[in-house]
Amino acid sequence: MIRNYDKLIFELSKEGREGYSLPRKQFDGYCMCKGLPENLRRESTPELPEVTEFDVVRHYTNLSNKNFGVDTGFYPLGSCTMKYNPRINEEIAAHPAFTQLHPEAPAECTQGALEVYYNLAASLAEVSGLSAFTLNPYAGAHGELTGLMIMRQYHIQRGDLKRTKVIVPDSAHGTNPASAAVCGLQIVEVKSTANGTVDVEDLKPLLDDTVAGIMMTNPNTLGIFETEIPEISRLVHECGGLLYYDGANLNAVLGKCRPGDMGFDIMHINLHKTFSTPHGGGGPGDGPVGVREGLEHLLPNPQVKKDAEGKFYLDTDEASSGYVSNFLGNFGVIMRAYTYILTLGRENVKMVGPLAVLNANYVKEALKGEYYLPIEGVCKHEFVFDGLADKSTGVTTLDIAKRLLDYGYHAPTIYFPLLFHQSIMIEPTETESKETLDEFIAVMKKVAQEAIENPEVVKSAPHSTPVRRLDETTAARFPKTTYRQMKG
Ligand SMILES: *Cc1c(COP(=O)(O)O)cnc(C)c1O
Repeated sequence: MIRNYDKLIFELSKEGREGYSLPRKQFDGYCMCKGLPENLRRESTPELPEVTEFDVVRHYTNLSNKNFGVDTGFYPLGSCTMKYNPRINEEIAAHPAFTQLHPEAPAECTQGALEVYYNLAASLAEVSGLSAFTLNPYAGAHGELTGLMIMRQYHIQRGDLKRTKVIVPDSAHGTNPASAAVCGLQIVEVKSTANGTVDVEDLKPLLDDTVAGIMMTNPNTLGIFETEIPEISRLVHECGGLLYYDGANLNAVLGKCRPGDMGFDIMHINLHKTFSTPHGGGGPGDGPVGVREGLEHLLPNPQVKKDAEGKFYLDTDEASSGYVSNFLGNFGVIMRAYTYILTLGRENVKMVGPLAVLNANYVKEALKGEYYLPIEGVCKHEFVFDGLADKSTGVTTLDIAKRLLDYGYHAPTIYFPLLFHQSIMIEPTETESKETLDEFIAVMKKVAQEAIENPEVVKSAPHSTPVRRLDETTAARFPKTTYRQMKG
């Protein structure tokens, strides 16, 4: 194939080739910029690829085949809950009655969409044991920020202006301290015990009248259930603070226990994790925020409410925490999550947590000989290894992750949480079969064996992917996101 590398043009392009044809008579001499002032017209034609439709179809189909997704293989990415996304969700979310709605349409014309919003908010309140939900935030981290704005507003409206500190466990997801900082709060870290749970003795001296609240994740990012929550709830509330629940791991306890019953005041849920809406590659997601009774008025504007005649309307409250998004969240994601809840039904929703926990423990127990398990015992929906059990091989967690790609798996989450040097965080989710888990276990064991017998093959992995091992820092800082032939 002849390619013009010097001009840095699109690789498949050939001068003069067109992907469309228009009736000559009608369009000969037609100027696209007709009516555009002379000084705004470009002087040269843009350098666009000159390709046929067939070239484009092949190009994108081939690219998509190089991609990895939950629809192509097992995706045990800890903390991300990469469960199956049922196809019926897509069908319902794509229904023109919803997709064709204009976001500015008045409430009289959007009753169906508002009903979906209202019903999903009510379902989330029921599964979480809280009083009311907003679906407006666009992601988990956005939900955290919204929740912290509510927490701040709660103290401000009580005239309690000293409370500007938020306590965050050392095991927390990075978004927790980041959200607190964006909200203008100071972050105070509380340590974990050797069992991986929040250290109550370390927490006690941190509690005073400057504490706005604590952010907790349960089960935490180690996949361990925080057993001291009743005591933590008592201590934090006694000192005047509120409890925030990072619900990213709700999948583990869905149907078993509820954050509201544990004493939490505010929480977010990641619809794109627990409620099966597709994510990865940065979105789209949705991060509904719920509050306990007495805090409903602080939810962001607008709120979807129902009047005495059963009509839905948008309400705004002067005392709220303000606006956090345009319109009503990522509505397509809301449609999918609502469909998921309805198709599972009340009884099956209760099985989500227990099956996710069963799968995680099954994989953990099978692999803990080959991989080092720093915290023993029953985990919840995910668990963390600290690299290989045999530390003499020189094979790192990064090497293992890369080698798994050769075997057709998405890598687990690596080097998070930060509590261990060689973290490998595995979350199988409830939607994988025993056969898939057994195959994964066999491959993980094989990689551990290779690390001992032939470490070079692991250290130089991947060998069979479209690109080999990248310089990850350069790839992250200077990503090349076009398909152009690059110079140098
Ligand atoms: C995923 C995750 C978040 C952030 O959620 P996003 O939707 O990615 O913004 C926060 N906390 C924990 C524990 C998570 O796993």
